[in-house]
Amino acid sequence: MDAFDYVIVGAGTAGCVLASRLSEDPSVSVLLLEAGGSDRTIWIQLPIGYGRTYFDASINWMYDTAPVPGLNGRESYWPRGKVIGGSGSINAMVHVRGRPEDFDDWKDLGNPGWGFDDVLHYFMRAEDFDGGPRSHRGRGGPVRVTDLTGLAHPLCQTFIAASQTLGFPSTDDFNGPSGEGVGLYQITTRDGLRASTANAYLRPALQRKNLKLISHAQATGLTFDGARATGVSYRRQAVEQTVSARREVILCAGTIGSAQLLMLSGVGDGADLQALGIPVRHHAPAVGRNIQDHLAVSYFYKTNRPTLNNELRPFHGKALAGLRYLWDRGGPLSMSVNQAGGFIRSRPDLTRPDLQLYFSPVSYTQTPLSERRLLNPDPFPAVLLSFNACRPTSRGRMSLSSPDPFEYPLIEPNYLSTDKDIEDAVTGSRLLRQLAAAEPLKSVFVEELIPGPKVATDEDLLADFRDRADTVYHPVGSCGMGPDPTRHVVDPRLKAHGLEGLRIADASIFPTVTSGNTNAPTTMVAEKAADLIRSDDSA
Ligand SMILES: Cc1cc2nc3c(=O)[nH]c(=O)nc-3n(C[C@H](O)[C@H](O)[C@H](O)COP(=O)(O)OP(=O)(O)OC[C@H]3O[C@@H](n4cnc5c(N)ncnc54)[C@H](O)[C@@H]3O)c2cc1C
Repeated sequence: MDAFDYVIVGAGTAGCVLASRLSEDPSVSVLLLEAGGSDRTIWIQLPIGYGRTYFDASINWMYDTAPVPGLNGRESYWPRGKVIGGSGSINAMVHVRGRPEDFDDWKDLGNPGWGFDDVLHYFMRAEDFDGGPRSHRGRGGPVRVTDLTGLAHPLCQTFIAASQTLGFPSTDDFNGPSGEGVGLYQITTRDGLRASTANAYLRPALQRKNLKLISHAQATGLTFDGARATGVSYRRQAVEQTVSARREVILCAGTIGSAQLLMLSGVGDGADLQALGIPVRHHAPAVGRNIQDHLAVSYFYKTNRPTLNNELRPFHGKALAGLRYLWDRGGPLSMSVNQAGGFIRSRPDLTRPDLQLYFSPVSYTQTPLSERRLLNPDPFPAVLLSFNACRPTSRGRMSLSSPDPFEYPLIEPNYLSTDKDIEDAVTGSRLLRQLAAAEPLKSVFVEELIPGPKVATDEDLLADFRDRADTVYHPVGSCGMGPDPTRHVVDPRLKAHGLEGLRIADASIFPTVTSGNTNAPTTMVAEKAADLIRSDDSA
């Protein structure tokens, strides 16, 4: 049987960082197992290509949740990358660290070393920010972060001005010391190409002899010697194989994959596992609980000014955008469609932002729900405004539907199951309407296409939210970090409670969802995990 010092499961956002950092030490050997295959396709590398990867089963797990009572019994579609780079290869590239208080919350929940002052260093180490000189920003790190100042569509400034009319501050950097207010998003691209952690960390590290990547290898279970994890079983080309880990097994299989693999290996709620006939290795009732996600709704407005619809819809527009991209790797193909937004307080008495906004100078009201063709927007000028609550209080869960590792687990997001989240849904929807009615947006908007004027009262707004709101693709927390083995899965050093030789380092360990997008904080978690592992193993 092959043996490595570290066996990492999952070459997603976190796994690529860890494989790269741990293999910096030439005296250790690292194996990275990934269920998916190559990320060398145009639709992954071209920034706007993520519309095409959204429903591509060859690189996407394409989960459907169970029907959600809070969404009128609708299922929610959860895309997740099944490819080198993981969800970081199919995401919208928005780079937001989260609010400093998010990490202070993590610390206050019993996780010393995870406060903002502790983790800032890791955010900075990861990034290579291309904007002007600023404190708090990293230079020369692996992940190129592109400032959209001067690149975003001109209507983004109209959105920012309307927000200021309502009294919201503007900011030139959501990742700066304050970061509150409205402004332009930054994205993870380098020279007009996606800067996933696969491109930024893994690809250069694969030159090293002590790092091995095996793709198309789906882990099916962990092997143990008593309480100690000793290796990983995986299936590749219909052949079951096992590798052993001399030092540690590290799960980076993401919010769904990491919890699923634990449960398949007998680590989870004992009664649930027994009901499926899985021998209980370690009763860990918190596995699969505590799932949190951002839930957003979009409002669509027809405009009297050209938007990206005018540039991308006609054939000659696509051709021009293509030529522009070939010329200098710039223009709309080099960006996400989420270009502006903000973190705002819906009431002045709040101590921190409670809503995240998105402004996209493009619309897709006529695209069937089963498609997401970012290059085929509406044939008239229009934009979309969206919001989500920053810190939802609803908690979801996932469990195995079968002991078969190739069956998908049951995911129950439990959206809108608290009064607070319901209240936020109405507050945010009302706020989008206020923004649309504020100058200078008001003069640019011709008509609200969706949901339209028939949706008028708070009851209507909530009913519309239940009908149309959906995930922003930020599920976290299924293996939450904290001190209590009955409520948390890993301790503050990311070691699985009650077991040895096993850590988890990905978005599943977030104790609470951060206020913004989750890729940058996942990268931070993996950067910090690398230091924790190196220091523990050299002690
Ligand atoms: C469509 C979409 C848009 C998004 N947009 C943004 C955005 O704009 N900005 C942002 O910050 N965040 C965004 N996100 C979220 C962000 O990408 C994720 O939070 C982040 O990638 C999570 O990283 P991870 O390492 O936890 O998991 P992943 O990146 O999902 O990696 C998990 C990896 O493990 C592999 N794996 C799973 N199970 C197994 C197994 N049994 N054996 C072997 N391998 C396995 C998977 O194939 C995958 O490669 C988006 C996500 C999606 C899906």
